[in-house]
Amino acid sequence: MRVFKFGGASIKDAKGVKNLERIVKLHNDQSLIVVVSAMGKSTNLLETICDYSARNKVINEEALNLFMNFHISLAKELFDSDHSIFIEFNEYEKQLRKLLYEDSSKPFDFFYDQTVSYGEVLSTRIIHHYLQKQGLANHWLKAGDIIKTNSNYREGRVDWGKSKKAASKIQFSKNKVIVTQGFLGESDEGFVTTLGREGSDYTAAILAFILDADEVVIWKDVPGMLNADPRIFEDAIKLKEISFKEAIELSYYGATVIHPKTLQPLKEKNLPLFVKSFEDLAEEGSKISSNDAFDHEIASYILKENQVLISITPPDLTFVVEENLSHIFSVFAENKVKIHLMQNSALNFSVCVDNDARKIPILLEALGKSYKVRFNDKLSLLTVRHFTEELLDRLIEGKEVLVEQKTRNTARFVYR
Ligand code: ASP
Ligand code: MG
Repeated sequence: MRVFKFGGASIKDAKGVKNLERIVKLHNDQSLIVVVSAMGKSTNLLETICDYSARNKVINEEALNLFMNFHISLAKELFDSDHSIFIEFNEYEKQLRKLLYEDSSKPFDFFYDQTVSYGEVLSTRIIHHYLQKQGLANHWLKAGDIIKTNSNYREGRVDWGKSKKAASKIQFSKNKVIVTQGFLGESDEGFVTTLGREGSDYTAAILAFILDADEVVIWKDVPGMLNADPRIFEDAIKLKEISFKEAIELSYYGATVIHPKTLQPLKEKNLPLFVKSFEDLAEEGSKISSNDAFDHEIASYILKENQVLISITPPDLTFVVEENLSHIFSVFAENKVKIHLMQNSALNFSVCVDNDARKIPILLEALGKSYKVRFNDKLSLLTVRHFTEELLDRLIEGKEVLVEQKTRNTARFVYR
């Protein structure tokens, strides 16, 4: 059994859906599970819709129309106008409207998950019908029928035991492709949960783990896993083969090719992960497995922009001690703010985090109750694995460095 994952960029238009069909057709000789994200940027659009309803208690008609029309126009290129998918779209729009009216006052994270899940639902409905139309028998599976999570909305934690049990009840037939949604699960309360932004890769890994698949392939709009973001660093090159451990480090530091949680389950069962080009099928892509022989060959660098460096000082200038630290961490955890880098001195604890407009003001206020808090924003965080000094000199030339940290394999800089 294989698990294929297609991200939003790979299916952002009708051409992408046709290309997916071509790839599925080429690999239809064994059991196949196709995990699909929301198309293009539709999750972002749904976030806008959701935010607007939560704040204003009315529907953002413009954004909702954009969302629906995007899917309708895309489907018009794939189906005849009397195809049943258009009736389905009407139904989904009605459901979504009802949700936006009725649930916008419920806890935000819950409301968010119910709303944004429509991106994956619509994308998989399109793919299901399109494969069907092209003669590829397939079964549309609701991801939540297998992936069971706790009720931590927006970051559902997988209940492996329950999920495994749920999966054992599902019949898989060898020549029927399964099409399912990435990013989604089902809470113990029976509602949709999401696994965190960009969580579809993780879905592929969860399914591979639970169903004992042989391999996972992530089809992307890049030739494989690169050592840097090619939009920022023009000399980016492909990493042909790296180990799970190295890939986990890279994604931890912010490499966005693979969702950070994806690799753990694969590593545990030693299931190789391939990252392959969606456009160029002859390109062999990258392989991530337990082989670490090539990890040190190529330096990788990861840049996170829009960072804020928060400096926290106890008000009476007592030292930063364990009690302070554990309290500070609890404030970050309560506000679901992920710490990217931290540094402490006697009087001061600094952390670098994403400058999330929704979370950071609340976090700063919460910290401000017990500490003196200062911050610097509009910063970048650069991480370099397997660096050389020359490379570092080149990368930080002309920057104002606020924090620098080095270990044997990793150098990190917060700079302006
Ligand atoms: N559609 C979701 C997102 O954009 C999940 C994913 O793409 O992996 O975050
Ligand atoms: Mg996406």
